[in-house]
Amino acid sequence: MVKKKKNDIYYLDTASLSVKKVRVSARQRLLKLLRYLIVGLFLFGVALFISINFFKSPHERQLEKDLSVAEARYRYLSDRMDQLNEVLTDIHKRDQNLYRMIFEAEPPAPKAVLHNNYSEFKENTLASAIISTSEKVDKFANDLYAQSISLDQIFELARQKEEHMKHVPAIYPINKKNSRMSSGFGYRFHPIYKTLRMHTGVDIAAPQGTPIYATGDGKVVVADRSPVGYSGYGIVCKIDHGFSYESLYGHMSKLNVKPGQKVKRGDIIGFVGSTGLSSGSHLHYEVLVNGKRVNPVYHFFLDISPEEYLEIFEKAKEVNQSLS
Ligand SMILES: [Zn+2]
Repeated sequence: MVKKKKNDIYYLDTASLSVKKVRVSARQRLLKLLRYLIVGLFLFGVALFISINFFKSPHERQLEKDLSVAEARYRYLSDRMDQLNEVLTDIHKRDQNLYRMIFEAEPPAPKAVLHNNYSEFKENTLASAIISTSEKVDKFANDLYAQSISLDQIFELARQKEEHMKHVPAIYPINKKNSRMSSGFGYRFHPIYKTLRMHTGVDIAAPQGTPIYATGDGKVVVADRSPVGYSGYGIVCKIDHGFSYESLYGHMSKLNVKPGQKVKRGDIIGFVGSTGLSSGSHLHYEVLVNGKRVNPVYHFFLDISPEEYLEIFEKAKEVNQSLS
């Protein structure tokens, strides 16, 4: 008896009326195996294609979730940058006003803008969000840098302004209580020549020996009795305040400073007298701007009340006789 194998194929031989085994060659077996293999591979390929294109792996699902979170965060950052840029724009406007209104200066010109190239992001899924936010961050950084420079300049201007304010002749040169405005700036009758002459300062009548104060910080450039170029002034002192301001004090009885000496506003530089061409004890006070004599009345603004100023201003307007 022939033992039947599971995969063997048999056929009925009608001639011998017996069941015989179909003989299959090794080649045929190999071809059959290859056929199965090809069909199997094809089916596997189809299954793989479907799974890749129509089903997502847990890892892909996680990536997608992360991507949407990242997009939301970029949008949030972008909105925050918009808000910060608005704040900075407001600071910029206020800064420009500060320059123009307080310091009477032009604000600094905007600096060259830093420009980054974000083309490497172009193919990225997050491209538009990243580019937009990055550009906003760049703009913000540039504006912030410009603002920082501007603030440095404001600080410097404020420092200069403070120096300027200390130097400009701005106080009444002698104690207002024991003095009086006698004659103002403009054409006045000269007490000695008895003609109408240009009076280049103000005369403040005060007792002999009344202290005279420097009206602003500066350096004494003239301190002498009738020096060359100051004929008629008697004992005279001139202070160079810098910032194109000078002040002059004439007809003193005595000096309290020397040429080259630095003085502060309020320092006693000398005492009231009647030296030189003078008709009585008084201080002849002049203020010069860029070498040109101006009305000193407009420079009394620090230690004076509105009432006092009005009184001095009205008295200085009178076309009377100067004390010289
Ligand atoms: Zn005078």
